[in-house]
Amino acid sequence: MRLSTITHLAYAVTLVLTTVSASTFILSARSASQERTAIQQHLELDDLAEELAVLAESRTDEARLYVMRGDEQHLARFYVDDDQEGHLEGTLKKLSDLGVSAEERAMFDRIRSAADAIDVIEKDAIGAYRAGRQDDAQQALFGDAHYRLQTDLVKQVEDVRASITTRSQGIVDAAKARSDFFGTIAKSMLALTALMFLAVLYFVLSRRVALPLIRMSNVVTRLARQDYDVEVLDDGRKDEIGEMNHAIQIFRDNGLERERLDAERRKDQRMKDLMLQMMHRVQACQNQEELSDVVSRFMPQIFPDAAGHLFVLKEQGSILHSLGQWLNPVASELHFSIDDCWALRRGRPHLSEPEGDDVTCHHIHIGTSSNLCIPLTALGDIVGLLYLETDIGNHASYADRLYFELLAENVGLAVANLQLRQRLVGMAKRDALTGLLNRRSLDEALNRLIEDPGTPLACLMIDIDHFKRFNDQFGHDAGDAVMQYVARILSEVIGDHGEVFRFGGEEFTILLPGATETDAEKIAEHLRQSVERAPLSYRGRLLDPVTISLGVSRSPQGGTVSSVLERADRALLTAKKNGRNQWISEETWQSA
Ligand code: GH3
Ligand code: MG
Ligand code: MG
Repeated sequence: MRLSTITHLAYAVTLVLTTVSASTFILSARSASQERTAIQQHLELDDLAEELAVLAESRTDEARLYVMRGDEQHLARFYVDDDQEGHLEGTLKKLSDLGVSAEERAMFDRIRSAADAIDVIEKDAIGAYRAGRQDDAQQALFGDAHYRLQTDLVKQVEDVRASITTRSQGIVDAAKARSDFFGTIAKSMLALTALMFLAVLYFVLSRRVALPLIRMSNVVTRLARQDYDVEVLDDGRKDEIGEMNHAIQIFRDNGLERERLDAERRKDQRMKDLMLQMMHRVQACQNQEELSDVVSRFMPQIFPDAAGHLFVLKEQGSILHSLGQWLNPVASELHFSIDDCWALRRGRPHLSEPEGDDVTCHHIHIGTSSNLCIPLTALGDIVGLLYLETDIGNHASYADRLYFELLAENVGLAVANLQLRQRLVGMAKRDALTGLLNRRSLDEALNRLIEDPGTPLACLMIDIDHFKRFNDQFGHDAGDAVMQYVARILSEVIGDHGEVFRFGGEEFTILLPGATETDAEKIAEHLRQSVERAPLSYRGRLLDPVTISLGVSRSPQGGTVSSVLERADRALLTAKKNGRNQWISEETWQSA
């Protein structure tokens, strides 16, 4: 109920109670007035009766004194009293106005009759006295008849006074009782009004205002501290406090919504910051291992719900292999062909889902996860694939897909840049014709080895025998083919045991770190035989067998690392001099 309704109701009840109280006060006052009137009448009637008795007695006394003494003054007073008695009798006629009962009126009538009878006797006696019959006059005034009448009058006066007293007392008592009754009701009404006022005041101030205000104050204080867990009291009140509670509820809801939006904004901002960090680092990577490390570290931070792989395409190949992964993806194969992925075939992101509407990539073993493939491209060429795996129903939102694609674009560029860089580095380090490391790389390798002079090192200098003849006989291209052929055999035989360099022209150098003398000589012989035994043809024509001569030097046994080339070259010259298609070690040459 609204406070205003409560106060209006309380006002109405107070008005009714006050009206009742005032009415009973008026009734009580009227009873008091009746009481006063009754007392007034009683006093007047009592005076009247007493006056009648006194007057009659006074007149009798004056009449008796006159007939005894003959003094005219007494006679004059007798007649004055007689006038007064006449006046009183006139008053007696208006007795009904004084509220006397019929019985009392009869009593007054009897008093008046007695007075009249006494008056007749006394006036007769005065007449007798004036006629000279003093004895008759005295006999009449002091006789039995007069005495009886006078005694009767006195008794009548006493009776009427007693009756008036009794009746007046009854009226006074009744009026007093009524007055007391209405007074009590009026006081009760007043007390009730006061009680109701206090109750309403208590209810309104304490129950309806103070307590809710205290609770509201606590709620507002907590809300001010941005504690939105606080429960706002909503007791469905329809008054001002209820409206304030409702307003606070709206304030709290707004706060919660603002906090949610803030959290989303912070999360989004953090995601963007991480993406920015990842992009900066991706572009600064110097090789694919670093790229794999950066992507595998940042992706789970940016998208904690998505496991994934970074697949890259080997240069000029069609097989993708996983360069790195995060959060243990399980659905995709680690190596697969471009044709196995719908995203790579179409050049567009592709979502594979169990019981999904779209086709599923062949490299995915569809299970309970949602799988998103985003091609990595650079300048229109496919360089890899960003693969993401989330629980079904939790697949990336549209906004996240945009982020995925943005990152994929960035990572794709980085992969392409690394491949380009790798190509450039390769071009700087390798010989274009044979693919072997070039002379510059040989110098770098030797410089590195010079730093570590204690490590055993064997060096092989190799020269194709009579190479000039191939050029002369079959042309320069055939010479190139022979050179490539020999280079491939050298690389295959050496494998992981050392490094093969093209020293220049048709000369090659092989460095074998850690090789003993026996190892080096065995390898030299193996190389010689491999080249000699390999059948060579060019454009369908069988070429003469190719042979090579080799010079072997070692460090530190034969000398320093910096002289290892020169020493091997000298041994090679010896091998040439000795008839070619052979190897000579520097020890042999030195002892020769
Ligand atoms: P020897 O057995 O004494 O080493 O005789 P040779 O003919 O191999 O030696 P020579 O130094 O006289 O000839 C080397 C030739 O190799 C000279 C050059 O024209 C040729 N040559 C050098 N580099 C290349 C190349 O890249 N391609 C081709 N086709 N020929 C090359
Ligand atoms: Mg040569
Ligand atoms: Mg040669």
